[in-house]
Amino acid sequence: KSSGKGRYETFQPSHHAAHLERERLLADLYQALDRQELVLHYQPIVDLASATTSGYEALVRWQHPTHGLVPPARFIALAEDSGLIVPIGRWVLREATRQAAAWQRPDGSGPRMSVNVSVRQFQHPSLVGDVAEALDRSGLDPRRLTLEITESLLVQDAAATTGKLEEVKDLGVRLALDDFGTGYSSLGYLRRFPIDVLKIDKSFVDGVATSPEDHAVIGAIVQLGQTLGLDLVAEGIETADELAALRGLGVGYGQGYHLGRPLPAAAHEEAVHQKAVHEEAVHQEAVHEE
Ligand code: C2E
Ligand code: MG
Ligand code: MG
Ligand code: MG
Repeated sequence: KSSGKGRYETFQPSHHAAHLERERLLADLYQALDRQELVLHYQPIVDLASATTSGYEALVRWQHPTHGLVPPARFIALAEDSGLIVPIGRWVLREATRQAAAWQRPDGSGPRMSVNVSVRQFQHPSLVGDVAEALDRSGLDPRRLTLEITESLLVQDAAATTGKLEEVKDLGVRLALDDFGTGYSSLGYLRRFPIDVLKIDKSFVDGVATSPEDHAVIGAIVQLGQTLGLDLVAEGIETADELAALRGLGVGYGQGYHLGRPLPAAAHEEAVHQKAVHEEAVHQEAVHEE
């Protein structure tokens, strides 16, 4: 804006084209729900001590008729600005809880499910009702649902936010603070708000095996988590070295391409099936050898 040419900005063809593109995408997004173009992929959240999957994070994608699979980075902000995030978020809650309930095992146990909730969606009057309805419809044990919020929500109207977070907590669900360490939150928030889980942002995880500073920062977060009784999830683990360093620091849970990519539900079911077939084969072999 300090440049003298700034006032011509909106008339530049490239900006005009970008604006048109955005308008077109928004027009399509209005139809996306009705046309059933939104899909959820699920990324495993792994218990680092036992190396078992403790749950999944639901991540929305848009199967656009001509653009292909559109990542959330390209349409969540658009959905927030237009208010479409409310019906989209409602659908995500329903679909993710339905899937988690479907993955429940006969003994009643099953994976947890994490769902991202953006600021505008959280602040909308229907949020608590939407969560309650999703739990009701699916029959999912509320303790198996985690809502992921960001620090940007906590720096908004603190009194209103606290009340609403308490309402959500009263439903029995867990709350996670996503991208922890990247926002403006003071540590005081961790005492004031009923948070259960900290998700350590990928930007710290990236350096955990190579940068003494990042290693130390995560070490401090581990101590903080222990003191405040919070679960920790390291985000964006991409290498075996990062995984080993995080294990060494005592981080409880991890997520990342090294542990498992976000995939459609059917792909995870296939993997579980393959594992069962494999275990059965190993078992048969063992029986044979006896
Ligand atoms: P997030 O909640 O922090 O999700 C983690 C993002 O990191 C996901 O990107 C995931 O695919 C990606 N990721 C996981 N492991 C790795 C890794 O090892 N390396 C790298 N480079 N990336 C990794 P995705 O799916 O593109 O989602 C981006 C963001 O969009 C999410 O960040 C979340 O803020 C938002 N989002 C996704 N789904 C929803 C949704 O249903 N509702 C709302 N409101 N926001 C959503
Ligand atoms: Mg998240
Ligand atoms: Mg995150
Ligand atoms: Mg992130």
